[in-house]
Order: sequence, then C-alpha cells, then structure tokens
Amino acid sequence: MYYTKDTILFLNGKFIKAVDAHTDLYSQTLHYGFGAFEGIRAYQSLNGVKIFKAFEHFERLRKSCALVGIPFQYETEELVQIAYQLLERNNLSDSYIRPLVYCGPNMTLTQPQDVFLMMCAWEWDKYHGDKLLKLCVSSYQRPNPNSLKMEAKVTGHYVNSILATSEAKVRGYDEALMLDMNGNVAEAPGANFFLEKNGVLYTPPVGHILPGITRQTVLNICRELDIPVKERNISPEELESADSAFLCGTAAEIAGIESIDAKPFRKEWYESLGATVQEAYKCQVLEKSFSYVII
Ligand code: PMP
Repeated sequence: MYYTKDTILFLNGKFIKAVDAHTDLYSQTLHYGFGAFEGIRAYQSLNGVKIFKAFEHFERLRKSCALVGIPFQYETEELVQIAYQLLERNNLSDSYIRPLVYCGPNMTLTQPQDVFLMMCAWEWDKYHGDKLLKLCVSSYQRPNPNSLKMEAKVTGHYVNSILATSEAKVRGYDEALMLDMNGNVAEAPGANFFLEKNGVLYTPPVGHILPGITRQTVLNICRELDIPVKERNISPEELESADSAFLCGTAAEIAGIESIDAKPFRKEWYESLGATVQEAYKCQVLEKSFSYVII
C-alpha cells in the first residue's frame, strides 16, 4: 500500500492529495521510459527524522537528467527542503522517498520541453527482510554502457532489472546477480555487490553498474574501519571461492547473501566483514556512534 486517501504528494510546486494527482497518458515517460528518479530513505535517527544522503541523492537526480538531456530546473537544496516537508505533511519517519522527473506529452523521440516533478513517500520496511539472500546468476546481462548512460537512474533502464528479478523469483531464488557484457559480475537489479575473500572486500568498478550512494558509503566505512577494499573486475568463477558476499543499496541497505546458484558461502554471515559493515551502516543512518574492535 503506497498511499491512502489522506496521503499528500508533491506535484509541480504544490502539495496535493495523492488521490487527486493526475498525469497525462501521452507522457513520453510512460511510452518510452524517458524519465529519471531516485530512491531515498529517511530514518528516525537519534537527532530526529533524517534523510540519509539527501544531498547526494538529489544531486544524482539532477545529474541523471543532465546526462540524458531532460531539462530539470530544481536546485538540490530546494529538493531537500521539499522532501523534508513531504515527510512532515505525511507524518512519516522511517520511510522511503521517491522523486520522479517525468516528461509531458511527446510521442516523438526528441528531447522533451515539458518536464514535471512528482515526489511521494511511504513507510517501507526492510526491502529483503532479515533473512540472508539466495541469489542466482541471471541470464540477463546489464546493458552495454555504449547503449545507455549507466550512471543515470533512468526509468526505462529498469525493464532490464524487472526481467532479472522476475526470472530469479520464478527459479525460486530471492534475487538475481547480473553479469556485464564482458561476463564479469556487475550488480543486482537494484543494488551493488561486494565479495569477501581472505580478509579483503572486492566490488566491481564503475562502468557497467549504477555507482550506488550506498556503495560509496560502504567504501567510506571500510576506509574508516581499515577494512581493505578493492574495486576491480570479479569473474563468476571467483564467486565459488569467496568467503562471503553482500548487496548494498538504499532500499536493500546491507543485505547478506547466503548462497549463489545454491552454493553457500563458507563463512557464517555474523563472522563476515559484511556483518561489520552492516552494523556500521546501521549506526551511520541512525546517527549513532559505532565502535569496532579488531581482534
Ligand atoms: N544498482 C542499481 C541498478 C540500482 O537501481 C540501485 C538503487 N538505486 C543501486 C545499484 C544502489 O544505489 P544506491 O545505493 O544509490 O541506492
């Protein structure tokens, strides 16, 4: 349930009821997937309701629009203010915020003139729940970076993600792990991937992935905690000899992986580097201090 009759959303400069909001069925976004969006979480932190990495998410929204040529006029600071107001008007604390930049009526394949902003929010629990994930290597690859702007969070890109997640679920898994066009591990349909081997974390470099804000947070946490981390290509064969692995993303947060293609990792999750990163991440979003003792 994303909204009720009382839910308020932001649409083109006004806060209105979600049930009164309308869009144009001739929208270029609806027909061709030409729009940009973000997924952002807010937490009831020790210091009140805080939108985690609000600035970074709205900067990325503006960057996504710029990369594909959607004229979008809002300033980042303005967008942050709207998001906080939205939470307040809906009395939300632990929640998920979804800004969507969408285009007006345009049935041609040219860049749009009319561009609109919708922002809504809802309460959203852990995306993957508390369980460890069973992944499978997807038959769907991430798109060729020469075909799309990989660093842009564009609506149409998510056809690829929906195909991969749906296939994984049909095959009885929780989520997919996708390779890139060169056969290297890329990412999950809506989250980035880290693998642990001999006390080092590895994650695929930018190029064939959406460089996640959570991924960057994990890299920062590793630096702070002196956990060695390397950005480099990971072959599917390396998955089998890894000690542990996890997904990270705004919705998924830090989600431990139990197995890939039914082959479990050798390390128990609670002993893994991922579990430490998960704790540190939790503390960061809640603005709590985190102490970590290297044994
Ligand atoms: N990859 C893809 C394809 C995604 O959709 C997301 C979610 N935005 C991520 C990675 C993780 O990005 P972030 O940490 O910024 O949420």
